Amino acid sequence: MIITKIIDETSTTKRFYLKPDKDLPFKAGQYISLSLPIDPRKSRGIRHYSIANSPNADEVELVIVEKEGGKGTAYLWSLEVGDHIELGHGASGVLTINNYKKNFVFICTGTGISPFKSILEYIKEEKIETGDIHLVFGTRREENILYFTEMQELVEAIPQLKYHIILSREPWKGRQGYVHEIYKEIIDNYFQAMENGEYNELPLEFFICGWKDMVDEARKTLFDIGFDKKQVKVEVYE
Ligand SMILES: Cc1cc2nc3c(=O)[nH]c(=O)nc-3n(C[C@H](O)[C@H](O)[C@H](O)COP(=O)(O)OP(=O)(O)OC[C@H]3O[C@@H](n4cnc5c(N)ncnc54)[C@H](O)[C@@H]3O)c2cc1C
Repeated sequence: MIITKIIDETSTTKRFYLKPDKDLPFKAGQYISLSLPIDPRKSRGIRHYSIANSPNADEVELVIVEKEGGKGTAYLWSLEVGDHIELGHGASGVLTINNYKKNFVFICTGTGISPFKSILEYIKEEKIETGDIHLVFGTRREENILYFTEMQELVEAIPQLKYHIILSREPWKGRQGYVHEIYKEIIDNYFQAMENGEYNELPLEFFICGWKDMVDEARKTLFDIGFDKKQVKVEVYE
């Protein structure tokens, strides 16, 4: 794949746009694997990245945060437009929607927003009717918010989409804290509305994506509340 564009998204995060050498089919919400020349043992150079744009696009967009001391990201940070990256293997991953006629809660931190941007762009482009969608995005500081402009555009285009941002490390005009308090409120409101008979009775489905600590806590919280495995889809970045 050829790098066609690199954008500095934040001081530690870059977007990479890649033109595949051959057809690269994927479903909105999936990830690809890159094979990076960072270790003599090829298998140790494999790194996974969620695809951040719609399957309708002819390029693949990745949003990657630099890891301190990380071999893969150090290599990716050395690359320039026109350089080639080898595809490890094609698309895989479980954060895909089989039935859009549900209510969805997407929970993510940092670059974990990537598969949800892909899904939302696809819903917008294909004008897919869905139940309610809540995107709950957590990060540390305002400067770390990813895809703010793109998400505003998606909110405009998808009336059933609610976009919640919560920052853990600084006060700002919005909410401060952790993603867990937001989705717990969404669940409370949902149950309350069901009791009042106000709600369209679509089943609730949760998609969680990001680094391990957040994902583990969210998954446990949802299971403790009583949701079952079929209602909770998870992709852990590690
Ligand atoms: C499904 C999935 C999707 C992801 N999507 C994204 C994304 O969209 N954006 C993003 O920023 N990050 C994403 N990640 C994380 C990403 O794959 C890398 O872990 C991250 O970029 C750090 O890589 P690094 O090489 O810089 O760090 P390193 O610390 O060098 O490596 C990180 C991971 O690579 C593996 N690894 C490292 N060295 C070896 C070795 N010698 N042998 C075998 N395995 C090794 C280990 O699993 C390690 O935890 C995703 C991860 C997964 C699993």
